[in-house]
Amino acid sequence: MADKVLVTGGAGYIGSHACKALAAAGYIPVTFDNLCTGWREAVKFGPFEQGDLMDRARLDEVFAAHKPIAVMHFAALSQVGEAMREPGKYWRGNVCASLNLIEAAVDAGCLDFVFSSTCATYGDHDGVVLDETTPQAPLNSYGASKRAIENMLKDFGAAHGLRSVIFRYFNVAGADPDAQVGEFHQPETHLIPVILEAIDGKRPALTINGTDYDTRDGTCVRDYVHVMDLVDAHVLGLKWLRDGRGRPADTQGEGGAEVFCLGTGSGFSVREVIDQARLATNHAVPMTEGPRREGDAVSLVSGSARAGEVLGWRADRSTLPQMIGDAWRWHQTGGYGK
Ligand code: UDP
Repeated sequence: MADKVLVTGGAGYIGSHACKALAAAGYIPVTFDNLCTGWREAVKFGPFEQGDLMDRARLDEVFAAHKPIAVMHFAALSQVGEAMREPGKYWRGNVCASLNLIEAAVDAGCLDFVFSSTCATYGDHDGVVLDETTPQAPLNSYGASKRAIENMLKDFGAAHGLRSVIFRYFNVAGADPDAQVGEFHQPETHLIPVILEAIDGKRPALTINGTDYDTRDGTCVRDYVHVMDLVDAHVLGLKWLRDGRGRPADTQGEGGAEVFCLGTGSGFSVREVIDQARLATNHAVPMTEGPRREGDAVSLVSGSARAGEVLGWRADRSTLPQMIGDAWRWHQTGGYGK
């Protein structure tokens, strides 16, 4: 029997792609999701357990039933604008929920843990490329909640032998090239799917959030990673932990928590992404210019090669034409909930 991996948020955007990658690598992904933003139809590659991370008894039941060898923790609230308006929702929904999960995993003896963190933990470093050693100073409760969970993992590593890989994602984009799963949020807030909605008339126009930043064209710069490359890193990280790596003695991690940035090292402005979307889809992008979005960093670009050096990770699919092309193919299927 293949090893099982508990995937929280497996019905969501990145989690569903991770399930596909885990199944392809010979694992059984067990999705744990409350479907607050995820989709039942996105669970295609292994069993589904509906549940809420705040429900400790339900978590214990799922650990006991499946005996997973590891956890991949994707379930989270992840919108910067909402986090600015409703910080309590982020501290409860991300931090309290993750504490429950981590304690349940430790109590079940499931000590290998892969965690979705974010470059939003860095805050604004004004043009500096970011790596694992860059000081974290989040600008919003989303980034702050993810940083708190990183710290929690370090403490549980030191005290209980939990071994974790923490991936700080830059901007995740694209979709499964087979269009079995893809990005589908309601409402959508992320740049590339919003552009695609503007192209096909699902919204009147894309609003550019701020055009007066100190960047080459006045719009914010981000480092975009293809979701398939991103989830490949998770499988590599899992294997690395399972090979007995990631312990305090043989890594530079604190308390058995090892951090890797997942970005390409190239930043693109909002206007550059719009131009590439026009070329990749062959459609004009209806747009308007709006004010800055509170909590946005000017530029977030990874300067780290560590995931490549240590895990052997490559971001070969992470070009804007490929990410937008795969997202467009998925978008044209109409998504979930039809
Ligand atoms: N953005 C925008 N209009 C939109 C959505 C996003 O101008 O409708 C900008 C956003 O302000 C940021 C960049 O695009 O500068 C990427 O935003 P996204 O929400 O996709 O990811 P984030 O960087 O917040 O994780």
